Amino acid sequence: MDEGTNSINTGRVMGGALTQLGPKGSPEHRRRFENYRRALASTDFFLRGSVVKRYMPCGRAGCRCQGSPPRLHGPYYQWTWKERGKTVTVRLTPEVARVYGAWIKNGRRLDQIARKMEAVVREAAEELRRQP
Ligand SMILES: [Zn+2]
Repeated sequence: MDEGTNSINTGRVMGGALTQLGPKGSPEHRRRFENYRRALASTDFFLRGSVVKRYMPCGRAGCRCQGSPPRLHGPYYQWTWKERGKTVTVRLTPEVARVYGAWIKNGRRLDQIARKMEAVVREAAEELRRQP
């Protein structure tokens, strides 16, 4: 809940006009945030989801993939991601799988940087609240 700085809760989310107040946060928080911002700016194409390499059986009777031990077909490369809560999978060539893999790695790095940036701002936000 609100900590009592406002007597009237209008339910309106604040923001936007805050730039008029000037930059807030300690130089240390600003410096750390800025480092992450630079890392973010140098981030190349990024993608969500994951690339998997799979070996699979086929439906053909007597195929080697159904032998003992089974010798499966593949490798096949797939990119899987979530779209509106639904898992989508497409097949990729080995070359495209390599590119997607690199972009997915960039995406994870980007998420990690964004989380770290948020952590810095959290610290700054807490500090701001504690100031008299
Ligand atoms: Zn087979």
